Amino acid sequence: MLDLDHPDTPPTFAISREGDAILSIAKRMTLVSTEAKQALLSRSIAHFAKMRSITIEHWGESKPKLDAIDLLQHDLQRLALQNSTNDFVNDWRGKLCTVCGASITNLEKYSDMLYCPKCLDVIDGGRDAVDQAFGLICI
Ligand SMILES: [Zn+2]
Repeated sequence: MLDLDHPDTPPTFAISREGDAILSIAKRMTLVSTEAKQALLSRSIAHFAKMRSITIEHWGESKPKLDAIDLLQHDLQRLALQNSTNDFVNDWRGKLCTVCGASITNLEKYSDMLYCPKCLDVIDGGRDAVDQAFGLICI
């Protein structure tokens, strides 16, 4: 259970916020062309840097934590490199992903829930690793 007075709690929330920002970038990547994904990948660099600096500041050079961040970054790079002609940010209805052929998901009740679920699977390993290394499953 989450203990709000525990000294690990504020940096854990900070890591979680950076992870959410990276997830949001990854979702956007599944909707756009290879070229546009490179621009998104550049935007993700600051979030990964923040994750590493929070980690080192609070936990020191924790290898499992830093390895988990490396894995997530590697997965995001793989997602960015998949050749895509997707152009689904504004027009996704009835469209199939040009990368994997899946239908584009849109949970209209939520913001930020438009993405290709199958392409997003590429970063599952990295996301799980970060969740476990930082105990994000508890929050
Ligand atoms: Zn896809």
